[in-house]
Amino acid sequence: MNRQADTIIYMDNNATTRMAPEVLEAMLPFLTDYYGNPSSMHNFGGQVGRVVADARAKVADLLGAEPEEITFTSCGTESDSTAILSALQSFPDKRHIVTTRVEHPAIKTLCDNLDARTGHKHRVTRLKVSSDGTLDLDEYKAALDDDTAIVSIMWANNETGVIFPVEEMAAIAKKRGILFHTDAVQAVGKIPIDLKKLDVDFLSLSGHKLHSPKGVGVLYVRRGTPFVPFLAGGHQEKGRRGGTENVASIVGLGRACELAALKMEEENTKVRALRDKLENGLLTSVPRSILNGHKIDRLPNTANISFEFVEGEAILLHLNRYNICASSGSACTSGSLEPSHVLRAMGVPFTAAHGSIRFSLSIYNTEQEVDFVLEKVPSIISSLRQMSPFWNG
Ligand code: PLP
Repeated sequence: MNRQADTIIYMDNNATTRMAPEVLEAMLPFLTDYYGNPSSMHNFGGQVGRVVADARAKVADLLGAEPEEITFTSCGTESDSTAILSALQSFPDKRHIVTTRVEHPAIKTLCDNLDARTGHKHRVTRLKVSSDGTLDLDEYKAALDDDTAIVSIMWANNETGVIFPVEEMAAIAKKRGILFHTDAVQAVGKIPIDLKKLDVDFLSLSGHKLHSPKGVGVLYVRRGTPFVPFLAGGHQEKGRRGGTENVASIVGLGRACELAALKMEEENTKVRALRDKLENGLLTSVPRSILNGHKIDRLPNTANISFEFVEGEAILLHLNRYNICASSGSACTSGSLEPSHVLRAMGVPFTAAHGSIRFSLSIYNTEQEVDFVLEKVPSIISSLRQMSPFWNG
């Protein structure tokens, strides 16, 4: 494989992020010398157990949670499944799930699989979004009923970056005595979260979205919330998730959370300025380009732009020639030629949804990179439009 990391312009951080050097440094001893099992009785394992506890405390700090409310998992998808399936098993008489039409496949596919319409026993309400990707709170309130076992609403959308009013929605669920889960995979590390002030019962996060490794995630479970493990097994994670811990990655995630707590504000200011420069530059230099998603209630790193009358995949191929990495639709849905379910739910017209590109930045991007992308994209779009049967100039 080529060593490309130094030459690529990586603007696909909602798909995955570069590991922070501090994170790698923290992990290395646990991939080499300190290989003990954290559950072992001897000191060699015990010292590793203490390091896992330290990482748990760092994750808890970033979220405003207690360490015992943090369970390590293998990824965001596992955390999402665990939360929903736990609620359904805790309340076997309740059959209703409330979610949105724009969730990541980690929630969307699970809910589709549980849905009575696919022959299963649950009823799923998927809330609509408006053209800017925001939710209607009245529709949400009306959707809740005595049969609702759990609400699952993402904190921030992976494709558009649109942020949902989780605080308000969780409070409404709480008043009705309904469990509330939020998939905060894209939010954690990018916006401040203080679970002490919120009525959230479950929260999912994923290590590789905040500059730590792939293959580690977290499920926050509020103290006192009924819980049924997804992975039954040993006594690891206080019986909440069987399986020997992925120690090095857990240490890395702890360090990443510590860094995020220290630097989030400063980094967000920088990332937002770069994103805004990129976004405004593209919207002004490319005719018939449209921003997808609410302009304000949005993650500071994400710009989802439709370039009408061209194919997103073709744009990506051209960007790839300049070592620019971005995404059309979400990482998990690209590969299919269907326009993304998120943009469809927002009612983005077919000709625009097909030409949508998500640029998602991080602290490792520079102004020179933004300038380079601004220089290349307009000519790419204009040459593709020359070939488009729908473009009339
Ligand atoms: N939820 C959201 C909003 C995501 O963006 C992703 C990944 O893109 C996931 C869940 C899945 O996380 P993981 O890749 O750790 O399973």
